[in-house]
Amino acid sequence: MILYSTNHQSPDVQLEEAVFRGLPPDNGLYMPHVIPTLPTSFFDNIEKMSITDIAFEVSKALLGDEISEEDLKMIVNRAIDFDAPVVEIEKDTYVLELFHGPSMAFKDFGARFMASLMSYFLQKSQKDIHILVATSGDTGGAVAQGFYKTPGIKVTILYPTGKVSDIQEKQLTTLGENVTALEVDGTFDDCQALVKAAFLDSELSSKFNLASANSINISRLIPQSFYYFNAFAELKRAGNTKPVVFCVPSGNFGNLSAGLIAQRMGLPVKMFVAATNVNNVVPEYLKTGIYQPKPSQETISNAMDVGNPSNFIRMRLLAGDAHQEVVTHITGDFSDDTDTRKAMKDVFDRTGYVMCPHTAVAYLGLKSYTDTLNEEVAGVLLSTAHYAKFLDVVEDTLGTSVEVPERLSALLSKEKVSILMTKDFADFKAYLLK
Ligand SMILES: *Cc1c(COP(=O)(O)O)cnc(C)c1O
Repeated sequence: MILYSTNHQSPDVQLEEAVFRGLPPDNGLYMPHVIPTLPTSFFDNIEKMSITDIAFEVSKALLGDEISEEDLKMIVNRAIDFDAPVVEIEKDTYVLELFHGPSMAFKDFGARFMASLMSYFLQKSQKDIHILVATSGDTGGAVAQGFYKTPGIKVTILYPTGKVSDIQEKQLTTLGENVTALEVDGTFDDCQALVKAAFLDSELSSKFNLASANSINISRLIPQSFYYFNAFAELKRAGNTKPVVFCVPSGNFGNLSAGLIAQRMGLPVKMFVAATNVNNVVPEYLKTGIYQPKPSQETISNAMDVGNPSNFIRMRLLAGDAHQEVVTHITGDFSDDTDTRKAMKDVFDRTGYVMCPHTAVAYLGLKSYTDTLNEEVAGVLLSTAHYAKFLDVVEDTLGTSVEVPERLSALLSKEKVSILMTKDFADFKAYLLK
C-alpha cells in the first residue's frame, strides 16, 4: 500500500513508515493511492464468512503487496478476536454492536489492529518503541488493551485527573505490565501538550524510539472497514436483501471514513448518514457546502464533542471531493441532548433495548433519513460503545437501573495504579529519562 499526504508536500511512503510516523511531515493525512475493488465472488459468498475471514480478505486486498498471506492471517487473528453482531430492534432497523471487544467500544478494532501491525513490523526490524498517548477517555482504554503485553512496545498513557469516568480510569490504570498510566494534574489539552512537547524534544527522541497511537493513524482506519462488510454478511444471513443504509455516530469521522473505504471496495451502500450531537460542523457542511470548524461544546455523547474533525479531509476525498458528489454518498443529521435522551427512553420502553447516548444519536440520524424515503431499506446504526460505559446518564434517562456486564463490574473492584504528574514538561521529561 503506497500512501500520499493530503497536503502533497511530503514524499509517498509505504505502510510501515505511515504506521510509525502517524502524520506526514507536512501535517497532512496519509491516504492510500489505490483502493482496490473486491471481486464479485467475495460478495456472492460473504454470508459464509466469519468476521475474521472477512478481515483477512479485505486486508489482503489492501496490504497484500507488502505483507505475506501467512503474516496477515496472524496479524488479523490476533487483532480481530471478537464479533460485531447485528441486532434487529425494529423491523428493518439493525444495531451493529461494535462493543464486544476488551474495552467495550468500537475503538478496539483500530487499536488492536494497529498494535498487531506494529508488533509485526517491530519483530522484523528487531526494534523497541515507546508509545505516548494522551486520552480524554475511550481512546486510552482501547490503546491500553490493544498494546497490553505486546512484545517490543512500552505504552505510557496520560489522562487528566478527575476528568474521565470511573470505568474509563480503571481501564487505564489496572493493567500494569507494559502499560503505565500517568494521572496529570490538568486538562486533556495539557496532556496532549506534554505528548507533543516530548515528540519535539531532541534529547528524548534520540534516547527513545517514541511513537504515537493517535486516531489519525492509517492503521486504525483500515480495520474499521471490516465490520461494514460483516454487517452486510449478517443481513444476507438474515435474508434481508433491501438496500443498505448505515448511520454512523461521529466525532472525528474516522469511523465514517472507514465505511467509505468499504464502499469504494465494492460494498453496496445506498447511503451513509453522518450523525452528530450539537457539534454539527459536518452536517452543516453537507447541507451548505461550507466547512466551518467551531469550538466544541460538551454533550452527553462526549466522545463526539469535536469541533474540527481530524478526518474531515479523508471523508471528503473518499466520498468524491466535490460537495455535489459527496452528498450522493453521505447525508447529515444532528441531535441535541434532550432528543437523544428521549430516543434512549423511547427505544427502551418500546423494545427493551438499551442504547448509550452515542448510539441514540445514530438511531435518530437513521430515522431522520429513512423517514424521507419511499422505499424500504435495511437501516443499520452503529453502536460505538456499550451502554454501561455511560451508566450515570443511562440510568438517569431510563429511570431504572440496568445490568452491568461482568467484565466492567469486575474492573471496578480492581485497584487503580497511577503515577501523579504535574502539567510541567520538565517533570514529565525527568520522569521519562529516569
Ligand atoms: C470515538 C467515538 C466516537 C466517534 O468516532 P469517530 O471515528 O471519531 O467519528 C463515537 N462514539 C464513541 C463511543 C466513541 O468512543
